[in-house]
Amino acid sequence: MSGRVQCCVPFCRHTTGRFSPPTEWICGEHWRLVPKDMRRVYGRRKRAWCRYHHVNDGSACDRLWANLKRRATEAAAGLV
Ligand SMILES: [Zn+2]
Repeated sequence: MSGRVQCCVPFCRHTTGRFSPPTEWICGEHWRLVPKDMRRVYGRRKRAWCRYHHVNDGSACDRLWANLKRRATEAAAGLV
């Protein structure tokens, strides 16, 4: 199916059609496994990133996202 984005946690089968263009996404179930502090930071930074969409702050965004993804994946695997 095109236009669906799959949760980036391995073996998770949740998808969303919310994004265009398709990007990476963590489903609600796995999002809850990410520490609250990290989610708050991401939510706050994301607002700024959206507002300054054309400002090239991709590296910081990518780093934070990679962190969130790792935590969600580890938590899902029972490592945390
Ligand atoms: Zn998931």
